[in-house]
Amino acid sequence: MLNYEQARSKVIEQVGKMRGPRACGSVSVWEALGLVLAQEIKTDREYPPFDRSTRDGYAVRAGEIKPEAQLKCAGEIKAGDTVTEALAPRTCVQIMTGAAVPAGADAVVMIEYTQREGELVRFERGAQAGQNIVPRGSEARAGQMILKPGMRLGFAELALAAQVGATQLQCAKRPRMAILSTGDEVVLIDQQPGAFQIRNSNSVSLAAQVQIAGGEPVVLGNAADRVEDLGEKIERGLKEDALVLTGGVSMGKYDLVESMLKALGAEFFFDAVAIRPGKPAVFAICQGKPVFGLPGNPVSTMVTFQLFVTPAIDLLSGAEAHPLPLVEARLAEALNERPGLTHFLPARIEWHGTVPEVKALKWQGSGDIAALAGAHCFLVVPAEREKLAAGESVSVLLRKDVV
Ligand code: AMP
Ligand code: MG
Repeated sequence: MLNYEQARSKVIEQVGKMRGPRACGSVSVWEALGLVLAQEIKTDREYPPFDRSTRDGYAVRAGEIKPEAQLKCAGEIKAGDTVTEALAPRTCVQIMTGAAVPAGADAVVMIEYTQREGELVRFERGAQAGQNIVPRGSEARAGQMILKPGMRLGFAELALAAQVGATQLQCAKRPRMAILSTGDEVVLIDQQPGAFQIRNSNSVSLAAQVQIAGGEPVVLGNAADRVEDLGEKIERGLKEDALVLTGGVSMGKYDLVESMLKALGAEFFFDAVAIRPGKPAVFAICQGKPVFGLPGNPVSTMVTFQLFVTPAIDLLSGAEAHPLPLVEARLAEALNERPGLTHFLPARIEWHGTVPEVKALKWQGSGDIAALAGAHCFLVVPAEREKLAAGESVSVLLRKDVV
């Protein structure tokens, strides 16, 4: 049985092979958050476009400034002012943050280190050439590529595009992820379930996870545990970029997903992973499309989505697969888990100073959505470990939506 890293690698390897040119479209910079760029963005000019002062103070020739030096102030320059005149020798000019440093000046002395008496400025300390000035072109040259195809657009990337005037961006279309739940016991969320039925909450969590990962959810509802209904809905799902099923992948008599996929010609890369929850997770390619069969227990569905489906969405968007958002934290309370499988326990992080401390939450197993609803992360208990002591350093898999 593969461990979760091996299983993730299989997904990345197989879906990575499918990365071709993707459908894209022009999107306003206001709408492009989270999309993957499908073009190069180049600067329209040098950045900064002029020698920029990073402080409020006085523009000077550094060689003229010794402690107690006094210079005449020849004027002032605000951010946005057009600067054409060079700084005359033995003078200084008052300058504001963001303003252009005049020719001749090679340093800005912070106003805090000066005293002004009428037209005269007294300097309390010496100056070094270059101080408090960002030279023209030092952040980027004119025509330099600053954003590449395949980059995911977060707030900083969008600001960079806006800075160079790229207001419309060619972006990859979000991969359309078909979501199909299975099970005779499952009813629509707006229906009153019978005493032994449950509402289809998995389709809701999956649609949310698809969106967080950068995909477009295509919710296909629920298939009964019967060959005809399941087969028909799987075929419908295979028309999208990828298909995510929940339920029907365990060993029960009515767990038909694997046999149905097999009948439709699927090639399987795993049908179990050494994790808990989520062990029966399936990954296959069927009719050229990635298909994920996630276990139906809600927490299993959530964990296996994050581990295995998220990288597929990255790759189908034309981006690299994100690394798993694993971070180190200090274990607040000792743990005792059965060895053999890597456990992903719903947990909460508390920040005491700079070191996060993590505590596993009480839960009733993989059906317990309520436990996860208060969790920040999954605490990762390695397969070979049985007892973990309080104070140990452990890995946690962050829930990207709440941390
Ligand atoms: P299965 O993987 O089909 O054996 O399902 C395992 C358990 O997950 C079932 O007992 C259900 O209680 C639950 N389950 C299955 N599908 C869903 C769903 N769509 N929404 C919420 N819970 C589900
Ligand atoms: Mg089922």
